[in-house]
Amino acid sequence: MIAKARCGHFAIKSYVDSHGGLCRKCHSNFSTLLDLEKKYGEDALVEYWYGLILVNLPESKEEIRCFISHLIDFYQQKLIEMPSKQKYIRKMLYMLNSIQEPFDVETLR
Ligand SMILES: [Zn+2]
Repeated sequence: MIAKARCGHFAIKSYVDSHGGLCRKCHSNFSTLLDLEKKYGEDALVEYWYGLILVNLPESKEEIRCFISHLIDFYQQKLIEMPSKQKYIRKMLYMLNSIQEPFDVETLR
């Protein structure tokens, strides 16, 4: 059965259910980010997002918007679970929100 994933894409329902509500492609992006964080540390991930803000995101806006909103949820949850990492997580949320924001402004036009 095909279901709409929370990232806004359509995917096989059993896959979506067992991968945090994401389609295959977004889940693989998500895993890549977590690997990056694990391998190169938190600063590397912050730099990665900062880089993306600077180049205005190569992927389609609608696609990245759903994915970013998933990440915002993920880090908001982390903020509750890992208060000791608050400083880093808040930085990530700030980055993610500033990626999200330009698109929100656009939809108002
Ligand atoms: Zn997706």
